[in-house]
Amino acid sequence: MKVIFSTEQLRHKPGKVLSSGALVDGLEVPGRATTLLQAAIATGLTQEVPHNFGMEPIAAVHTARYLSFLENIHTRWMRIPGASTDVRPNVHPHAIDCVYPASAVGQVGFHVFDGAAPITADTWDSARWSAFAAVHAAQEVLRGASSCYALARPPGHHATAELAGGFCYLNNSAIAAMQLRSAHERVAILDVDVHHGNGTQSIFYERGDVLTVSLHADPVRFYPFFWGAADEQGKRDGLGFNLNLPLTRGTADDEYLLALDEALAKIDAFDPGAIVIALGLDAFAGDPFAGLGLTTAGFGRVAKRIEALQRPTVLVQEGGYPCAQLGDNLAAFLAPFHSNFRSS
Ligand SMILES: [Zn+2]
Repeated sequence: MKVIFSTEQLRHKPGKVLSSGALVDGLEVPGRATTLLQAAIATGLTQEVPHNFGMEPIAAVHTARYLSFLENIHTRWMRIPGASTDVRPNVHPHAIDCVYPASAVGQVGFHVFDGAAPITADTWDSARWSAFAAVHAAQEVLRGASSCYALARPPGHHATAELAGGFCYLNNSAIAAMQLRSAHERVAILDVDVHHGNGTQSIFYERGDVLTVSLHADPVRFYPFFWGAADEQGKRDGLGFNLNLPLTRGTADDEYLLALDEALAKIDAFDPGAIVIALGLDAFAGDPFAGLGLTTAGFGRVAKRIEALQRPTVLVQEGGYPCAQLGDNLAAFLAPFHSNFRSS
């Protein structure tokens, strides 16, 4: 089994992020990726550097004006007298049906929905290579590999078609799913990150060809707050193709696995040609976000049940933040896929 990763993805090093109104050091640091890469290699995976796939696979998910914004905003921001080093919004439209602003400050408010997605001079490049890792992993699976792991950093599941937020800029899991759609009628995305995958949900909310399922800490008192409730089930063609399973804070292995079984039953009934796992490891009891109570062994049990579906699977890294067991948690999750790996 392969791990797909480029060192270009380490260049994005944001300074402070806004948390409860305070500027603090962000948890989404390059060291996460280094730890995860070491763990993947120690598990026996082979590293491959993704190809540069250009804009096409990314534009299958994101709007042209958003991609142009991401590419150019840091340069434009630096022309503003007195502006901060990292791009961060200080104004937001209350609703999305407002005019599209021409100014850099206005566009940052429009496209960045919170203070946890600062844009540096290197963000665009790192985010693109993170997306390329997801594309590359999807293509491995399309070529016949039973599974492939995209070490996508920065992560992506909070990013919508044209909004960045929550450490996310390009939605790598959605981009992988669209690659898989080129060969499969139906694709499912299972998001096990502790935070609801609001971006992924939004991108496929009106579609019946990509099933989105998310297990997460109940957003009533947890980020991303505004999305992730059980009654969000999709719209129009997508009605019935979005399943949210919000969990009580601190939910541990056994109870989590019950919800997972419900998620897997839904996915199996949908009969997807391939699956994307939005692999957040921040549901761990010792993760700094402290939302759920999974153990390292619990991640292994979760992965084993997913693997038992016996469907081609692309694992796309999402959250999972600095703690002593971060690498062990990835190793536990990868092990069932790696041990039953079938190469192309
Ligand atoms: Zn998360």
